[in-house]
Amino acid sequence: MKNILGSIREGIAHLFNLPDGYEVALGNGGASLLWDAIPFCLVEDQAKASTFGQFSSKAASAIDKNPFVSSPIVTKLEPGAAALPTSEEGVDTYLYPHNETSTGAMLPVKRVGGDEALTVVDGTSSAGAVAYDPAEADVYYFSPQKAFAADGGLWLAVLSPAAVSRIEHLTAERWVPDILNLNLALTNSRQNQTLNTPALATLHLLHAQLEWMMQQGGLSAMDARTKESSSLIYDWAERTEWAHPFVDESVRSQVVVTVDVDLPAGEISRICRESGIVDIDSYRGLGRNQLRIATFPATDPGEVRALLESLTWVGQQLSTN
Ligand SMILES: *Cc1c(COP(=O)(O)O)cnc(C)c1O
Repeated sequence: MKNILGSIREGIAHLFNLPDGYEVALGNGGASLLWDAIPFCLVEDQAKASTFGQFSSKAASAIDKNPFVSSPIVTKLEPGAAALPTSEEGVDTYLYPHNETSTGAMLPVKRVGGDEALTVVDGTSSAGAVAYDPAEADVYYFSPQKAFAADGGLWLAVLSPAAVSRIEHLTAERWVPDILNLNLALTNSRQNQTLNTPALATLHLLHAQLEWMMQQGGLSAMDARTKESSSLIYDWAERTEWAHPFVDESVRSQVVVTVDVDLPAGEISRICRESGIVDIDSYRGLGRNQLRIATFPATDPGEVRALLESLTWVGQQLSTN
């Protein structure tokens, strides 16, 4: 157990090419646990969040519900758009998602605010699939069941020295439930342990995927692979009469591709499902006539080509009937 955890922590540091002083912490609960841990362990008092979909909204709402810190300043954008939060006097923590999984909008990871402020980025669906500069974030958190092709249940976080010192001082002066205590998580992680028992199968799958990623050429190779897969779909949608990319071109995701369709999306996905092509449905909460296709590194671009040929065929059948 300790060996595999140590190897995962080293593997993440290696994959992301972490600067000196950055640390990898992990624990049980998935990325959603971080949403509740952030107001306890990272926000001094005033957070500012940019929200543009289901996941970023949940992160902001967890801060709003926490009675010990001020309500966050929230800049809400329409689904399909994306923007970094803007710097503002008095804000000590900025939050945004790297990739908003519900809509397929993606941002570059960039620091916001001055030296005293922390930049906290939800990288759940982009970590391991999209190149980023770790020096541009203080906290970059994710789960293993997206780009790392493992199972759910765990959270991982890459922490800058500034994040570690914020965590240390806030958890020393506040009551924090143990399960949400990032300082406890970090001290356990340093010993290659978790606070409570993790699912070994999840760790094993994550470990195997990390090794595969490194063999393929690391993060830059994963970045190129997901760019290739997603471009195939965007290009297909641009030239297909009944399909239209949903997200503004400047913020289109390379891991979650959303395509509005003029034909009934439910019917397309039902026909595909009969032939074993599954999980191309839109995000429920978004309620659009849309296909949403993941292009995580584990998917071979050849499979994406095969999917697009299938979709073209289904489109022809539905248009002529
Ligand atoms: C999937 C996802 C989450 C939730 O992850 P869990 O591990 O299920 O808690 C959070 N944020 C983003 C951006 C996601 O894609």
